[in-house]
Amino acid sequence: MYKYHGVIGFGVAMFSVEELLKMHGEAEREVYLDLENSAPVAPEVLEAMLPYFSEKAYGNPSITHKPGWMAYDVIQRALENFRRWLGASRVEEINFTPGETEANNLALIGAAQGNKRKGRRIVISAIEPLSILHVAEHILKPLGFDVVKIPVDEEGFIDLDSLDEAVNGETILVSLSAVNHEIGTIQPLREAVELVRDRNPEAVFHTDASDAYGRIPLDVERLGVDMATVSSYKILGPRGIAALYVREGVEVKRLLEGQLGTQRLWPGVENVPLIVGFQKASELIFRDFDGKTSHMKHLRDQLMDGILNSISGTLLNGPREERAPDNVNISFLGCEGEALTIELSLRGVYVSSGSACTRRLLQPSHVLTAIGRRPEEAHGSILMKVSWLHSDKDVDYVLRVLPEAVERLRGLSPLKEG
Ligand SMILES: *Cc1c(COP(=O)(O)O)cnc(C)c1O
Repeated sequence: MYKYHGVIGFGVAMFSVEELLKMHGEAEREVYLDLENSAPVAPEVLEAMLPYFSEKAYGNPSITHKPGWMAYDVIQRALENFRRWLGASRVEEINFTPGETEANNLALIGAAQGNKRKGRRIVISAIEPLSILHVAEHILKPLGFDVVKIPVDEEGFIDLDSLDEAVNGETILVSLSAVNHEIGTIQPLREAVELVRDRNPEAVFHTDASDAYGRIPLDVERLGVDMATVSSYKILGPRGIAALYVREGVEVKRLLEGQLGTQRLWPGVENVPLIVGFQKASELIFRDFDGKTSHMKHLRDQLMDGILNSISGTLLNGPREERAPDNVNISFLGCEGEALTIELSLRGVYVSSGSACTRRLLQPSHVLTAIGRRPEEAHGSILMKVSWLHSDKDVDYVLRVLPEAVERLRGLSPLKEG
């Protein structure tokens, strides 16, 4: 049986999922704030997707019959919408991939292979998601590329002087996230692009914009980036679909070979229901972008300030200004983040600790380490993200149950302050 290696208040213990579920009573309210790691699709998204599994446009868009033409039409309309939402010039610049991981792998490996005759240097930051960081370190480095990681300051802003030094005539690719996935730092991307262009106009600039898309204004042409990744489930769309913008003329080699459909850079038959879901999630947020993002900002501030003001020994991770409207990341000194996620789960509040990507390994998140957090501060952190579907009542409930969960753990914790 699968055993969960958790710490739950009374010390290190192992519980089966069954045992853990049995401990959960009927919570007064359920508030899902772990939107970084997965999300329930918005009801309207599910409703939009359902007919496409078996009723509408279920054909292969490359085949000439009615179900195929209908699928082709759905995809072309979606491409046009994404082109517009991203500020791209041409629909051919949008490529759907099965996820953010695949889009980032395609961007990095594809552009590195496509441009290797021009140089060998690849520049990233120390706080990129693992689908950038590990691709650079575990795939590109062994292939003979030279990977330079630029540092960030204590709020997660990239060090522009280091970027300036890192980019030279050998640099073929720069990849910097628009918004950090864990601490919400909104990077000065336009400045970074200009700086890279000044140093080397040939270098390809990629941004993982998965945590920017639908949260802050994003326009690939105004930013001047060559490639951008955006993801569906970070905005209440379904999992299993993302998109990579690749500016016309940028040389990117396909990662996989097979039957090509309408997507130049990703072979295989297009997944129409998921494309429709991703499109619907985008449409919902862009329909009233200012209203929805202001609502998120309001909830974020209520939650962030509520916690920082009512619980002592707390530390905000990431900046206060220039912060994504959905992101709250706080360290609770003297608390173990894993234990806190369990304590909160028992109260119907779902969050994650440290970084989910490193969760199983119980290593402090590389992002929190890079901004200078000590291991115990990083381990005591929890990440929460709000969406436009959350309400004031959700935040009020979290603010009510969080202090008692923290207090309970601090009373029991061997990491107790002082
Ligand atoms: C968003 C995210 C990813 C990327 O997701 P895909 O499934 O590749 O789209 C991976 N790991 C974590 C923890 C994430 O939050």
